[in-house]
Amino acid sequence: MASAKLLAAFLAALAALLAAGGGAGARELRLEMPSAAEMIVDDGMPLIHMLRPLLGSGGRLGLRARVPCDSWRFAVETNSLRDWRTIPARCERYVGNYMMGGHYRSDSRAVIDEAIAYAEGLQLAGEGKEVWVFDIDETTLSNLPYYAKHGFGVEPYNRTLFTAYVMDASAPALPETKRLYDRLLALGIKPVILTGRREDKREATAKNLAAAGYAGYEKLLLKPQDVRVHAVEFKSGERKKLEDAGYVIVGNIGDQWSDLLGAPEGARTFKLPDPMYYIG
Ligand SMILES: [Mg+2]
Repeated sequence: MASAKLLAAFLAALAALLAAGGGAGARELRLEMPSAAEMIVDDGMPLIHMLRPLLGSGGRLGLRARVPCDSWRFAVETNSLRDWRTIPARCERYVGNYMMGGHYRSDSRAVIDEAIAYAEGLQLAGEGKEVWVFDIDETTLSNLPYYAKHGFGVEPYNRTLFTAYVMDASAPALPETKRLYDRLLALGIKPVILTGRREDKREATAKNLAAAGYAGYEKLLLKPQDVRVHAVEFKSGERKKLEDAGYVIVGNIGDQWSDLLGAPEGARTFKLPDPMYYIG
């Protein structure tokens, strides 16, 4: 009987704790038990925990399709998964939901907030030599209007169709990057735009950048028309030329690891999300 009383007291205390102590924070997390069907994991791996947060475009879509598309995205974003040509077909809805929903924008915001905080803390030499290197596609400009019509990366890259889109010069700015760009200009750090787009797209690219609100950059560097080099080699080579010309690369931002790898990388690098395609 004593143990029953003890149990009742414990349950009452627990109920009171849940009623009062959980607070707004706990309710916002919206933790709930997965259903029995959802708990069947067909890869034989044991569950690590029973609760999962229902936030953004994460768990539920992945579980519904019985594939961890969020895990695939993690491997992509950490550069663990390389040389892939298309996103897994089963992840088209997941990636589409991620890109079109708030998750992509909030991931971008987290990166940009940190980049701005870093830039604001820099001590400039006062000679106007500090530059920040920006990539274009999925960095200054967003090609979501194109990719939304082409399966968010589930279709193989189509040079003809994508070139037509680029020549249309209609891509919107990625608003988070634009915020960083404007802040850097105000701080006196000069943007240098460095892209794997080739010289035959210079006019359309400059027109698109202007239409998207990007003005006052120091340089717009495109890949020479007939040179066959990988992105890492081309972009690190161009950064080396900048340093040799006396510029100090205080920051470097892009959506691909090939924007950021290869010395000189820049004093600090910032990786924006991009689960739609891979450029090595
Ligand atoms: Mg890019």
